[in-house]
Amino acid sequence: MKMNHNFSNIAQSYLFSTIAKKVADYTAANPDKKVIRLGIGDVTLPLPQAAIDAMHAAVEEQGKSASFRGYGPEQGYDFLKESIQAYYATRNTSLELDEIFVSDGAKSDVGNILDLFDQDNVVLVPDPVYPVYVDTNVMAGRKIVYMNANESNGFLPLPDPAVKADIIYLCSPNNPTGAAYDRAGLKAWVDYALANDAVILYDAAYECFVSEDLPRSIYEIEGAKGCAIEFCSFSKTAGFTGTRCGYTIVPLQLEREGMNLNKMWLRRQTTKFNGVAYIVQRGAAAVFTEEGIRQVQQNLDYYRENARILAEAMDELGIWYTGGKNSPYIWLKCPNGMESWEFFDYLLENANVVGTPGAGFGENGKNFFRLTAFGDRDNTIEAVARIKKLLS
Ligand code: PLP
Repeated sequence: MKMNHNFSNIAQSYLFSTIAKKVADYTAANPDKKVIRLGIGDVTLPLPQAAIDAMHAAVEEQGKSASFRGYGPEQGYDFLKESIQAYYATRNTSLELDEIFVSDGAKSDVGNILDLFDQDNVVLVPDPVYPVYVDTNVMAGRKIVYMNANESNGFLPLPDPAVKADIIYLCSPNNPTGAAYDRAGLKAWVDYALANDAVILYDAAYECFVSEDLPRSIYEIEGAKGCAIEFCSFSKTAGFTGTRCGYTIVPLQLEREGMNLNKMWLRRQTTKFNGVAYIVQRGAAAVFTEEGIRQVQQNLDYYRENARILAEAMDELGIWYTGGKNSPYIWLKCPNGMESWEFFDYLLENANVVGTPGAGFGENGKNFFRLTAFGDRDNTIEAVARIKKLLS
């Protein structure tokens, strides 16, 4: 028996367990204090009614032999793929139905896509980063090269021609930094990938938060279909974090070493995946109906207003930050040169507010701190008042 010893090389992540323990210890010692949590990146508003109604109807269909559905197409039902195709068309991006693969969420696909690539590839990952990109590659024994995201590049690194990468991870709007690339930035990456025969794995899980004139899909950039795979999700758009549905776009024209990545992904999915539940796909399709769009916008506006409230407080305090505008995340520079865990303790003990220390996302996060807009409005307002009182 030979085991995959690469698992021994995965850094243990104690981030959220350490946060939970610190908060539990603090509340046990201070039961009279009301702690406000603006740390975890999960949504809090319930699913849009249109999705609930569609799922109820689908449950009924599954209970009648005339409408019962067993195994569906592994890559998703046409009714959902057509809705996704129409959603992209509203932004002048045309997709073939065969380029759309429905899945149980972006996290699985971001990890599973690595089946397509040899172990011997150089992987370029920003620091700080959503840890899944790093851990999935370490599990497969791949070499990772980091690119610095920092204050001087606004946490939006651009390609370094001296670095030769094969697989490039980009996430925009970004988790954890909330920073979002403009067209020129993404164009630089597309040009680099085409010149280096590389493939960009583009995580668009937060595209629905883009409100300024910034790209929401990498395919808005000319040439991207020749070098990029895009991952998207209903999690943050429509509150599907617990319901589970996402989709991945693999362009039909994307080829490397004479192999077609779309055909490979189709083969991979039909071999290892049996599709997303029919009921869930009906719920996801309802997100694109007139009612669904309206309800989703209401929820997004709620989170956007929370983000605006948090960002305004940072402006008033003169604290440097990214995000807040096209993202549910505010990534702030810890005041007075504090390190992120030091600031975590300071904020917990003196304002009873919980955020996420940037050190948990990489070396370049060690003086930064993430707050999320996914909380309740009243709690966000109260947290801001406490932070302002503490730091002004
Ligand atoms: N990608 C990023 C950058 C995320 O932050 C998250 C979740 O927080 C995901 C992907 C996971 O999305 P899903 O719920 O669709 O698996």
